This record gives sequence, C-alpha cells and structure tokens, in this order.
Amino acid sequence: MCGIFGVYNCSDAAELTYLGLYSLQHRGQESAGIVSSDGDRFYTKIGEGEVQEIFSQDDLVKLKGKIAIGHTRYSTFGASDIKNAQPIVVKCSKGLLALVHNGNLVNAKYLRKKLEEVGAIFQTTTDSEVILHLISHSKEKNLIDVLKKTLPRLKGAYSLILMTPNVLYAIRDPYGFRPLVIGKLGRSFIIASETCALDIISASFVREVEPGEIVEFKDGRMRSFLFAEKNNKSFCIFEYIYFSRPDSFIEGRCVHDVRLQLGRNLFRENPTDADIVISVPDSANSAALGYAYESGTPFEFGFIRNHYIGRTFIQPRQKIRDFSARIKYNTVKTVLNDRRVIVVDDSIVRGTTSKKLVTMLKLAGAKEVHLRITSSPIVSSCIYGIDTPTKKELIAANYSVDEIRKFLGVTSLYYLSVDGMVSATGLKKEDFCLACFTSEYPVK
Ligand code: AMP
Repeated sequence: MCGIFGVYNCSDAAELTYLGLYSLQHRGQESAGIVSSDGDRFYTKIGEGEVQEIFSQDDLVKLKGKIAIGHTRYSTFGASDIKNAQPIVVKCSKGLLALVHNGNLVNAKYLRKKLEEVGAIFQTTTDSEVILHLISHSKEKNLIDVLKKTLPRLKGAYSLILMTPNVLYAIRDPYGFRPLVIGKLGRSFIIASETCALDIISASFVREVEPGEIVEFKDGRMRSFLFAEKNNKSFCIFEYIYFSRPDSFIEGRCVHDVRLQLGRNLFRENPTDADIVISVPDSANSAALGYAYESGTPFEFGFIRNHYIGRTFIQPRQKIRDFSARIKYNTVKTVLNDRRVIVVDDSIVRGTTSKKLVTMLKLAGAKEVHLRITSSPIVSSCIYGIDTPTKKELIAANYSVDEIRKFLGVTSLYYLSVDGMVSATGLKKEDFCLACFTSEYPVK
C-alpha cells in the first residue's frame, strides 16, 4: 500500500502536499517524499519514517514552485530501503520526470528483464522504476502519445501521478484496483489517494480518476484521455474493509457507513446473544458499532490502543517478549470481567494478532469470546499491492474455520460472507477485486 498526492497550480504546492501526506500516513509509514517544480527545475526531499520525522519548516520553504507530488510508502514490492522511496526522479529522453505509484505491477520482473537486455540500468528494486524506463524508451514525442502506448504494457495495479516541470498527469490502471481522486481548491487542482486528503486542505471533491484514464493538468486546465477500453472495474474491496480511512468517500460511499453496514450484516448472518460488543481499535470501530446497532447489544470499549508505537519500536529481548503484545493493546478489566463478549475485527491474516487479543480478553475475565470478522477468510495472497503474506502463512488458506476457532480458543468464530461484504458497499460484485477471498485474479 502507499498514499499518493499531487498539487497543480498553487503557490503553496509543497506545503499542501505535506498536509496531504499527513492525512495519507495510514497508507504507509516506511518513508515519504515530496518533489516540487518551479517550471524549470525540481526540488526534492525524501526520507525514512513518518511525515512528521522527515520534513522541517526549512525543507518546505526550499521545495519551491507551483506544482508538487508526494508519496508515503509501505513496501509491497522491492526492499524497504531509502533507495526505493518515492517520488522517483529521472532526467531522460522525455526531459525531467518525477513519479509516484500506488499498487503492484504483476509483470514488473518480466519488463525489467526485457529492459535490462537492451541496456537499461536500474537504480532501485521497485516495480515503479520500470514505468519510467518504458516512458524513456518510447519513440513517441508527445507525452500523451507516449503514455497511451506505454501504459497498456503494464499489467496489474497502478494509480500514478507523473510530473514534468510544468504538467501533472493522474493515471489509473484499466481495472481501477487502487483509488485515486481529483479535487479543486480555487484555481488549483489536487490529486489524492483518498478524499480525506482533500478535506484536510479544504479542497472540494471533483471526481474519481476513471480506470484506464489519463487526466492531464496543463496550461491551467484539466483534460481527459483514455488509454484502455472500458473494463469491468476491479476495485479492491479491502480498501473499504481495512485500508482506507473511515472519513474517506469511495465511489460516493463513505467508508464509515460501509463499515457500519458490514457490522450490521455480521449480526444478520449470524445472530449471537451476548452482553457487550467491542472492537479491535481502530480499524474495526465502525463495524463494531454497526453490529451493536443491529443487535441491540451495547457497544463498549474493551481494548485501548496505544497510538505512539513508531517505526523505531525495539522488540524486547526474548525474556520479556511477552510484554510486547500489551504495548499496542490493553484491556479494560471492568468492562470485560464476567461478560459474554462479541469482538469485531476486520480480518485475520496469520492469526497471530487475534490469538494474542483473545488471550488478553480471557485474562481480563471474559466469560465467552465470540470473534466476528467483517471480511471472508483470506485464502490467497494479494498481488496488487496489499501486504498479505504467502499462502503458507495465511491461516485460512491452511485450516478450516473450526480449526481456526480451536487454535484461537474462542467460543465461536464467524467470518462475513462474500455477498455480505459486497452488499454492505451497495455496489456490484463485478466491480470488485475479491481475489484474496475467492482466488479469482482479474489480471493473471
Ligand atoms: P494477523 O496477526 O496476521 O492475523 O493480522 C491481522 C490484523 O492485521 C488484523 O487485525 C488487521 O486489522 C491487520 N491487517 C490486515 N491486513 C493488513 C495489512 N495489509 N497490513 C497491515 N495490517 C493488516
């Protein structure tokens, strides 16, 4: 996962990008970067860690110009290395270019091999760099023609913002796996992974970038070009379930509202009698509230989450390792003691988080623990940019629901059905990528 952001035609371009990245921080905390342009040259600041650790007031002043792009990185392809941090900047046959990318290309290795065979030298191990090489190799002169020829060679997931000294391009792959929206702020245009990044700078939402579309921001205007036939969309449903912020809107649906409905659907599919409903904060808060509304069971705070565990958190030595589970979550004993508890979480990946949380609930005195998951069992890895491990490590790919229930030591375990997930969004099933739940991959 990653968050991307761009500003066109604004004297505060870099500062707005900084704010935008702040609100996209949940999409990646490994590194972040901003590149701005004054129409002639580029100014760059990239660093490891969270946005607040990287940029100083001085840095922002030095990022001159009226256009800028930014990126927060969560590595899903290529090592977590500062060399792989974005934006990627190159000077090539098409002039100065900077690129930010969210998503995974599935044919990156193949394309890289082909390019290396004809002499290309790569600076990073990311799939994103392949895109710039293809652009540079193109025989076309006009950048729109270059993109129309080049983009169809990329397979997989890509939401991109490409910058030249004077022009921005917002691009979404033909399946629209990852989100990308356009906003407006006075005469400036904004591009962002999620609408929450428009809100933070009081920009108004214009529309989403369509799958297979290039939106060009040039000479003060916005123009649209299509580079692929209209497909069925394959939007990642996990954006609604876990990844996006609940205050963002996707396809006109507020993510919080969708999560409330996921929780309601969980109760409808599997009504269970209990004393309280709690969430695993923060990602399951909205869904647990929905479950409570639908069931009439009171919503409570059973877990408290510590928000201050940064990237540099040091794993304790083995002897005191057992404390580490408590660093992120602790229980509220008076809420849980002697209660029959419904615990709502968004997903079980390896099962390690749930196992620790269940143990803590029992220690706090919970009489029964009914675990409710707002997604279906994750049986296949994501190849389009969500950080899921290999099939070997996915608990639901290797064990039945009842075996998982026993392993976790819960009274009952229920996963929402695929139809239950889809109906909560109000959208059509055909418009989603459900590969991690169904093993049906839209792009092989
Ligand atoms: P696990 O311990 O591997 O079962 O992790 C499951 C937990 O990780 C869930 O509670 C989710 O909230 C969270 N989660 C799910 N998908 C991801 C992801 N791609 N990156 C980080 N956390 C995730």
